[in-house]
Amino acid sequence: MKILLTGGAGYIGSHIAVELCNQGYEVIIGDNFSNSKPEVLNKINTIVGKEIEFHEIDFTNKEATFELFEKSNIDAVIHLAGLKAVGESCIMPIEYYRNNIVSTLNIAEAMKKYDVRNLVFSSSATVYGVPKELPLKEGMPTSCTNPYGWTKLMNEQILTDISKANPSFSVVLLRYFNPIGAHESGLIGEDPNGIPNNLMPYITRVAKGVLPELNIFGNDYPTKDGTGVRDYIHVVDLAKGHVDAIKFVETHAGIEIFNLGTGVGYSVLDIVKTFSKVNNIEIPYQIVGRRDGDVAECYADPSKAKEELGWIATKSLEDMCRDSWNFAKNN
Ligand code: NAD
Ligand code: UDP
Repeated sequence: MKILLTGGAGYIGSHIAVELCNQGYEVIIGDNFSNSKPEVLNKINTIVGKEIEFHEIDFTNKEATFELFEKSNIDAVIHLAGLKAVGESCIMPIEYYRNNIVSTLNIAEAMKKYDVRNLVFSSSATVYGVPKELPLKEGMPTSCTNPYGWTKLMNEQILTDISKANPSFSVVLLRYFNPIGAHESGLIGEDPNGIPNNLMPYITRVAKGVLPELNIFGNDYPTKDGTGVRDYIHVVDLAKGHVDAIKFVETHAGIEIFNLGTGVGYSVLDIVKTFSKVNNIEIPYQIVGRRDGDVAECYADPSKAKEELGWIATKSLEDMCRDSWNFAKNN
């Protein structure tokens, strides 16, 4: 099977490319490098021991998207291409809506025209908004607090409507919790531009001495130690979930939603302490005020993915902290 990975040069996509190749799938990556670098492709090729087909393409360009489908004989699509920074989306909503919605529409339209019926879409736990009940289950109400989140929820709706109108179309919406970690080779991982927004890349920059200390956003939440709790998932576990989702869409029609998380919540202080312990590096930190829009706690009920996809996260928080540092210290 030939799988198109949109956004495949990015953090999560690069790990999915590796796992798909490991399972014998043929992979085509399409990316415009708006948030990734061409060097990643060589690193993926080194890990898998062969050259993966790559196309530099912007999926908001309908003509280019159709051309790629016309010439490529694609069997399934994993659609990751998108802008993903919550804060930036509040400053540049037009760019976020255009990029994230138009690319999905173009891909869905090309899939219809070229009779490609299987799609896996990268959604996010952010669509649950402020959780009223935990753990989060797929059937719980959704809502969003920022344009990025709305693009995910709108894409979920668009794909739901398309799948209703085209009963042979098979779609899986994967709601990711908090991916961290890196491939064990240390060749691919998360390397954001500028000052990181997310916790783990911020910690690794403090560990490298690039940033002086971590700012912990609030220690007065109703959690075990007052700091925010999240469901951190190793990016390799997450990537394997996509391989299982591809197997699922091959054999099912209609649309299904799956949480990809571990089901376990860790606090910011848990992450800092575990990172320090496994890597033997002190992470200086200070407690500052809460960050706007943050929720106290968020973690998944991943049992639907276990039952229906046969997927379960296997890597520990220690693995995530060790692999994040192994990548960051060499890059
Ligand atoms: P990333 O920025 O590393 O990867 C996204 C890739 O898409 C980048 O390589 C970027 O260059 C490319 N891209 C963006 N717009 C494009 C376009 N119009 N045409 C072609 N390529 C384009 O991000 P990631 O962390 O790997 O996330 C992948 C997907 O998963 C995104 O859709 C993101 O919203 C979603 N997601 C990520 C997280 C997370 O915490 N990392 C959590 C939930 C969901
Ligand atoms: N966080 C923090 N300092 C940082 C970045 C994040 O204390 O510099 C906290 C944040 O408040 C949240 C957790 O770490 O409780 C995870 O934040 P991240 O931005 O990584 O993911 P989110 O769940 O917000 O998408």
